[in-house]
Amino acid sequence: MIYWDSGDERDSKRSLGIRDKQILYRNAKGRCQNPGCGKKIDFDEMEIGHKTAWSRGGITTFRNSVCLCHRCNKLQGTDSWAVFMKKQNIKDPKTELKESLKNLTLQELKLLAAKHKVRVAGYVEEDLFSSRRVAPTKSQYITKLSKVVTDSDLRSRPKPPPKPKRRARRKSDSWW
Ligand SMILES: [Zn+2]
Repeated sequence: MIYWDSGDERDSKRSLGIRDKQILYRNAKGRCQNPGCGKKIDFDEMEIGHKTAWSRGGITTFRNSVCLCHRCNKLQGTDSWAVFMKKQNIKDPKTELKESLKNLTLQELKLLAAKHKVRVAGYVEEDLFSSRRVAPTKSQYITKLSKVVTDSDLRSRPKPPPKPKRRARRKSDSWW
């Protein structure tokens, strides 16, 4: 006999397995992971929030999930985690870090990358006749650096070397 439970089939994409839920709950120490709440909840009460809301294309993976109480899950609604934090006026260190990285120049980002031995690869653009290497964009640097850079790095950020003399910019020099 073949069972075909279409309900489970659909839901499996929306929710974590029981083991992941248990790990999530344990990692959250049985508390709502909204920093503005922190309420102690039972395992049965736990609702899974998404860093990127499901309705906005966020997939249900362990990394995208947060343990929330009912109230906070409702409160987050379809907002992303970052927006949810902003609305509550909670400063998320990771988001803050990204914001400060955005204020740096590409030159400064490159120096930080070098300091942390982070390699940021550009990509190769190809057309019919040739291919050329396109330098990584600022946002590629920011994504990579936000994983390794700490607050203190930014406070004591390396001084950029004196500006090079003006030279004719080739077209490929404009990165963004
Ligand atoms: Zn809560």
